[in-house]
Parts: sequence; C-alpha cells; structure tokens
Amino acid sequence: MAKPKVAFYWCASCGGCEEAIVDLAEDILKVVEAVDIVFWPVAMDFKKKDVEAMEDGEIALAFINGAIRTDEQKEMVELLRRKSGLVVAFGSCAHPGGIPGLGNFHTRESILERTYRTTQSTVNPGEVLPRTVTEIDDIQLTLPKFWNTVHTLDQVIDVDYYLPGCAPPTDLIMDAVTAVLEGNLPEKGAVLAPSKTLCDTCPRSDSKPEMLRIKDLKRPQEILADPEKCFLEEGLICLGLATRSGCGERCINANMPCRGCFGPVDGAHDFGAKALSAIASLIEVDDEENTSIDEIQELLRTIADPAGLFYMYSLPSSELRRSR
Ligand code: SF4
Ligand code: SF4
Repeated sequence: MAKPKVAFYWCASCGGCEEAIVDLAEDILKVVEAVDIVFWPVAMDFKKKDVEAMEDGEIALAFINGAIRTDEQKEMVELLRRKSGLVVAFGSCAHPGGIPGLGNFHTRESILERTYRTTQSTVNPGEVLPRTVTEIDDIQLTLPKFWNTVHTLDQVIDVDYYLPGCAPPTDLIMDAVTAVLEGNLPEKGAVLAPSKTLCDTCPRSDSKPEMLRIKDLKRPQEILADPEKCFLEEGLICLGLATRSGCGERCINANMPCRGCFGPVDGAHDFGAKALSAIASLIEVDDEENTSIDEIQELLRTIADPAGLFYMYSLPSSELRRSR
C-alpha cells in the first residue's frame, strides 16, 4: 500500500524547527518507515517543480515552519496548501509569529538600512540595497519582495493544526505524526499540545507568590536564580502564567524564566496582553487609591523593553500586529 506523502518547508525562521526533526534521532526511522517524504528542501533534493507536478491534495500532510514575509514564501505556502490535505503550522514563527515577528517593531526600510548599511560589520561602499530586479550584462537577476509586515502562516493560507514551540519538542512531533497516521486528530484549528498553563505543570509552582513587589524586578543576568524557587518570587518576570504547557519546562529546567514560545492557552488570543495582565494582577501597590499615574509609570519603567518581552514570540498574531 502506498505510504502517505509528507512535506516539510521553512519560511522566515532560524532553522531550529528543521533541527527538531533531526532531533527525532532514531524515531525519524519510524517516520520514514511510515511515510514518504516528498519535499524537504533543507535535507533532500526535491524541487518546486516536483511539487507543482503533483495532483492537488496528493500530499497528506505538510509541516510548514517559519513566518511569512516575502513573495516567495507566500507563493510556496500557497502551492503547498493546494497540494496538501492537511497543513500544520510548525513552531512559534509559523504559529504566533516567533522571533522574526519582532521585525514588526520596525519598517522594511529601517531593517534594510540597518542590515546593509549601518551595522558595524557592514562593508558596502556603494550603499547598495537589495532590489527585486537587477540587470547585469543583459541578464536579469531577481529577488523576492521583502514585506513591510511579518505574517503568521494562518494570515496567508488556511491552517489545519498548530504544533507550538521554539522549536516543537520531539514528543509532540511524534504525537502529531502518529495522530495523522491513525486518523486520530482533534477538531480543525486545534493546537497539538495541552491547554494548561506552564505554571500548572511547573515544579516550582508551590513557591509562586500571591503578590509581586514590582519595585524589586530584576533581569535574569542580574542574579543567580535559586533553582528551587518560582522566578516571580525572586523578582524575575516569568511568562509561565499565560503560556501553554507541553515544552517539558525546558527553560525553567535550565534556570531561565519562560518567554512564552508555546503561545497562549485555548481561548486567549493576544498572548502579550494576556501575559501582561497576568503579571499586572500580581503587582502589589502600597496604596491602591493614592498611587499616581507617575508612580505606576515609574514602576513600569523597571521592566526593560516591555513590548519586546511580552510580545517576544507573538507580535504578528497580536491585536497590535505591528508598530504604527
Ligand atoms: S511563573 Fe514560571 S517559575 Fe513560577 S510557577 Fe510559573 S512557570 Fe514556574
Ligand atoms: S519554558 Fe516557555 S519559552 Fe521556554 S521552551 Fe517552554 S514555553 Fe518556550
């Protein structure tokens, strides 16, 4: 019997999601035994024309990682959508926007200016910027258009399921592949991870404080955190209150606070707003009635880069979506 066809593709991402597939180690043999990998440009020599030659819907499952920010990425994910029965947004960048989504705090022009002209390591005497079309000796060279705004995968194509994480852990990847092979999938649109918060599964939750004294907030590099205590107890912001569980408490176990790469739990759409309100609800003020706006602003100033902190992985999927 023919094996189901599977495709992997990456868009605006760091390559970590591709590493996560390699991290399956010997389990990848089980995957290869059960499915036929028909497209995986980072590891195998298939071409776009091979996908174009397939029937619509011929690929059973496409795992697509990375956010979308160029015309080429849009064209490729639209092609894969047409050719695939199921599309899974794989990893934080495809799901709520990920680290590339922080580009939405800047404009296309300012990113190109910084990258190609003003970084300390740039040598570009002609101050040339990338162009979509360049003519050299009657030869036309083209580059895909770089968008002003980073998009999540589901802002560009219809997505069936989401596999969260930066990168998704191997057990969740195997569970997803098994669920597809066995036809044991949840409702369309589901995130293939538990809908509990990380605090619900965190071994440090017993020491989570009822109230937080924001005047004492610190950054992770400023103290050596007690590996037994909740980070909030130590004055370090940890976003486990608003983050979906399922990562195996990877950062917590490495003695680093959670930054929210698994995105929100079911029902919470704007991760940054949810995380901010969860932290704000813990903040203790001396005199609620007489605390002035100035005092609150002074307290908020103790959080370095609040927008970057609360929207580190989710700016493109937020209500804000980008700076205006
Ligand atoms: S805030 Fe962080 S350290 Fe504290 S219980 Fe939640 S996930 Fe664990
Ligand atoms: S602890 Fe938070 S940031 Fe770290 S892997 Fe887990 S969900 Fe992601």
